[in-house]
Amino acid sequence: MCISSSTTSLHFTDASTARPRSLAMPPSHGDLQLDGEAPAAGGQGGDVAPRRVWVPGPVIVGAGPSGLATAACLKARGVPSLVLERDACVASSWRHRTYERMRLHLPRCFCELPLVPFPPGTPPYPNRDQFIAYLDAYARAFAVEPLLGARVRAAAYRAAIGFWRVTVDVASGADGGDAVTATTEFVSRWLVVATGENAEPVWPEGVEGMEVYRGAVMHTSTYKRGDEFAGKKVLVVGCGNSGMEVSLDLCNNGARASMVVRDKLHVLPRDILGISTFGLSVFLLKWLPLKCVDALFLFCSRLILGDTAKYGLQRPKIGPLQLKKSTGKTPVLDIGALRKIRDGEIKVVPSINRFTEGGVEFADGCKEDFDAVILATGYKSNVPSWLKEEEFFSQSDGFPRKAFSHSWRGKNGLYATGFTRRGLMGSSYDASRIAADIANQWTEALARNIAAHNDA
Ligand SMILES: Cc1cc2nc3c(=O)[nH]c(=O)nc-3n(C[C@H](O)[C@H](O)[C@H](O)COP(=O)(O)OP(=O)(O)OC[C@H]3O[C@@H](n4cnc5c(N)ncnc54)[C@H](O)[C@@H]3O)c2cc1C
Repeated sequence: MCISSSTTSLHFTDASTARPRSLAMPPSHGDLQLDGEAPAAGGQGGDVAPRRVWVPGPVIVGAGPSGLATAACLKARGVPSLVLERDACVASSWRHRTYERMRLHLPRCFCELPLVPFPPGTPPYPNRDQFIAYLDAYARAFAVEPLLGARVRAAAYRAAIGFWRVTVDVASGADGGDAVTATTEFVSRWLVVATGENAEPVWPEGVEGMEVYRGAVMHTSTYKRGDEFAGKKVLVVGCGNSGMEVSLDLCNNGARASMVVRDKLHVLPRDILGISTFGLSVFLLKWLPLKCVDALFLFCSRLILGDTAKYGLQRPKIGPLQLKKSTGKTPVLDIGALRKIRDGEIKVVPSINRFTEGGVEFADGCKEDFDAVILATGYKSNVPSWLKEEEFFSQSDGFPRKAFSHSWRGKNGLYATGFTRRGLMGSSYDASRIAADIANQWTEALARNIAAHNDA
């Protein structure tokens, strides 16, 4: 056996009850030596070998809804965990990468995390602040207190010792954004990847002339409020849920928005006869084949929204649910942008050929000036940048190779939560399965230890 620190487990405090911190070190973890295993390369601070810390429970990377839900489900089963979060707060995607007026796209009953409902009085579509408050209360309810400012730089399984080694750069300041002051290597039997489908913004590559453009260019992840653009001409690049919503928010706040629509897309009403379209799809799919539900939705959409092709939004040949199933592409749930497009308040424009000093030249050769360009070009997983594993996670897109409902468990104690392309419902499913699986192993190990102790 390779673990040679006999005091480590005795001195370890339950990491999930540690106070939130962005300090260099978690409390009272014993240093650990692994026979025959050199520590990973030193931190950015120099050549000093990182401190090595054994974690008795799983290490969870990411303190978004998926990571919190997994830690909570584990806690409910009596298993402690260590949650590592690169930012200085829980739910940082919602705090820092969403705009102020945003609401959940799906009704609250589909966005609840396991074991805790939204508080009474929460509207059917909670806004950003209500959702953040729910996540804060959720973390408090289970005393999940992540190590903050802890960015996982690398994680690899060491078959020789049967453990995951997770190398973490820890920032010093309270905002977690300060310079890296220490590198710590956490060692655990289980690694739960909860860094999200949307970990990094995607910037379009190879668009000619972006460097000559004199206006402001930003990604939707840093867009906060439309009134900052009042009176300005803004080009929104992309027409998914984010592109549509940002265009609407701009329009509602006195900006003149144009939206680049390059591909065909499905736009569905958010509600049909007062019932959420998503909820209806969940219900109908229990009874009807997907094709029928698609046909029904397209019929209702035509009645409610009209012919979207007339406004420059061509529909793909295959239906919205079939498309989601085969490509993962989510239909846009309309919350009012379509009416603005119909009324000419949001202009639909073709793809960009190149940037000019004052604006862009479109694919049809027309040129137009804009004060600002907002890229609604989506997000990507960052797993390939830090996880040294290629069997379970694909290196090309950073998602598990297996489809839902088999995407939560890999080999050697590796798990994934929040990579199902099914939003928070998918995260809840993963969290419950992962917690049950690890808790079984935890209980068996405990029983073995007690038996060994009794024998001795
Ligand atoms: C604009 C928008 C609206 C959405 N609306 C809905 C909705 O209404 N309903 C719904 O069900 N779903 C919705 N989703 C989809 C999804 O449910 C959310 O994105 C949700 O936040 C996913 O939770 P997560 O914990 O998996 O990922 P995230 O919330 O992104 O959390 C991942 C965490 O991991 C951290 N992290 C990343 N890399 C590292 C690293 N190397 N080391 C340490 N920490 C790291 C991040 O800082 C982050 O805190 C929406 C998504 C977006 C983008």
